[in-house]
Amino acid sequence: MCGIVGYIGHREATPIILAGLKRLEYRGYDSAGIALIERHHTNGNHVPSTNSATLSIRKCKGKVNQLEDLIRNMPKTSMLGIGHTRWATHGAPSDINSHPHTDQTGRIAIIHNGIIENYSAIKETLVERGHHFESETDTEVLAHLIGEFYGDGRNLTEAVRLALNEVIGAYGVAVVSKDSPDEIVCARKGSPIVIGVGDNENFIASDAAAIVSYTRNVIYLSDNEIATITRDSVKTRTIGDVEVTKDVEAITIKLEEIEKGGYEHFMLKEIHEQPSTVRDAMRGRVIEEEGSIVLGGLRNHLPRLRNAKRILITACGTSYHAALIGKYMLEQLAQIPVDVEYASEFRYRNPVVTEGDVMFVISQSGETADTLAAMREAKRKGALALGIVNVVGSTIARESDGGVYIHAGPEIGVASTKAFTSQVTVFALLSIMLGRMKSLSVVDGKELIRALLALPGQINQILESSEPVIQEIVKEFKDADHFLYLGRGYNYPVALEGALKLKEISYIHAEGYPAAEMKHGPIALIDNDMPVVVIAPHDDVYEKVLSNIQEVRARGGRLIIIASDSDKRIEKLAEKVIRIPETISMLLPILSVIPLQLLSYYMARERGANVDQPRNLAKSVTVE
Ligand code: GLU
Repeated sequence: MCGIVGYIGHREATPIILAGLKRLEYRGYDSAGIALIERHHTNGNHVPSTNSATLSIRKCKGKVNQLEDLIRNMPKTSMLGIGHTRWATHGAPSDINSHPHTDQTGRIAIIHNGIIENYSAIKETLVERGHHFESETDTEVLAHLIGEFYGDGRNLTEAVRLALNEVIGAYGVAVVSKDSPDEIVCARKGSPIVIGVGDNENFIASDAAAIVSYTRNVIYLSDNEIATITRDSVKTRTIGDVEVTKDVEAITIKLEEIEKGGYEHFMLKEIHEQPSTVRDAMRGRVIEEEGSIVLGGLRNHLPRLRNAKRILITACGTSYHAALIGKYMLEQLAQIPVDVEYASEFRYRNPVVTEGDVMFVISQSGETADTLAAMREAKRKGALALGIVNVVGSTIARESDGGVYIHAGPEIGVASTKAFTSQVTVFALLSIMLGRMKSLSVVDGKELIRALLALPGQINQILESSEPVIQEIVKEFKDADHFLYLGRGYNYPVALEGALKLKEISYIHAEGYPAAEMKHGPIALIDNDMPVVVIAPHDDVYEKVLSNIQEVRARGGRLIIIASDSDKRIEKLAEKVIRIPETISMLLPILSVIPLQLLSYYMARERGANVDQPRNLAKSVTVE
């Protein structure tokens, strides 16, 4: 996730690029950079001599404002440039890792949004051929690869096209070269690129928000397409080298709507991003034919992990719920005892930590104060500390001994949604990896991986099918003061998460309980007015949950049930049923939580609450 902006035309490029980057900062904001191509004029008539141009690059860690300061004194005479605001995936945020990156010769500059999965294999080959790399990014590898193809009769477009044929992964890229000073080449696969068509000027951006104040005529590049853009032309082909004619479309929506991708709130946008964020969490980590998983950030700790006497997981809020699911997964597949603890509790007790303990530290932001303190405490006592975080280069990422990024992209909505499903996906990967190092067979590993890979499509299916019934539930229950959420096994933490979502954005009091615990207390709350959400898909404990549903029914509770698509028995037990597809028990939380996120979102909206900025809450809790 990052922001890309490019300009070629008759105006100064820098202010247009900076303004565009500011509009895109919600996509990533850990570093920013710009590359400008400037023609050299050899006579007083401003007639350019061929192939005489300079490429200037400025980039730094930090926000676009910092880049603005950095380039304040640069002459602003360039009419061609590209700019980037980064959301790091490979290599911590730093001046050197910031984009643009150049090729070996320094004549090409590239900005990239996405992940080149096979970058290390390509890098090795290039190093053998004498290439030297400055950054830790996957992007620089792509820049060098383009450089390898450039020249010898191949123009910039052809070089980019050939290089992209070699890469696996996702990209939106923009490339310029001082040897081709009248064009920008851009391409896309998986990450958005929109081309703004102006009058004797053209623009590119990851999101129309960056260019809408200059033009409302756009071309949306599709996956596997490459475009060559000059000030008065846009030529498109496929990466496979077939010419394509693209329609120029008019943008009609408002700027604010564009930034949220047409969604009313960031939270809804992020809920809908989950098919791709769950896929991104797995990207490059799954070895299907071996039924196994590689997690690069844990590579150096495998013996210690395999022999861990105990795994401790510490987290707060939604991450804590993901951790509870992680415990069930790790114990099931890796057969290692797991304890999960609230970071805020762990840090002030005198917890027993021994050298054989491995601690996983879970935080979306990587800055959560309590979680950070718990990690430091465990490290002090001899535990190996491994992070599962979203924000690359965050404090937990830096201070931990290793870890796994969830690669969910910036999460702006205060109520965490996509980070949760990505965290649970990473726990599934981790459990399969450790399981395969212990007693899990290749056949079982493959079956789990098949189920994992089906998840993005299944999430899509839920997003498409569940809204009508959720809207009915919202209308029916919008005035409720309390909700009870029940689940068992893997869906017990989902009940906790569903209740938390409802509390934090709808301000409705909600409790999550293990379904069978209900009879030890909360059952006293059930009367004819009490909405009870039961997560009851087909899984190992389905029959048991049905009994708990009967217990609620017997007391008049109003049942809303999350059930499997094929469940024929549930309809007559519930007032409302939300359907989800079938998967193996362990992965059900990644599906069953989706309708609960939507329920809390629509409930909050119906009640007029401020969804993206709920009262009293903050996104990254950096105080204890
Ligand atoms: N993978 C690239 C990097 O880490 C691009 C990340 C982005 O999309 O901002 O630098």
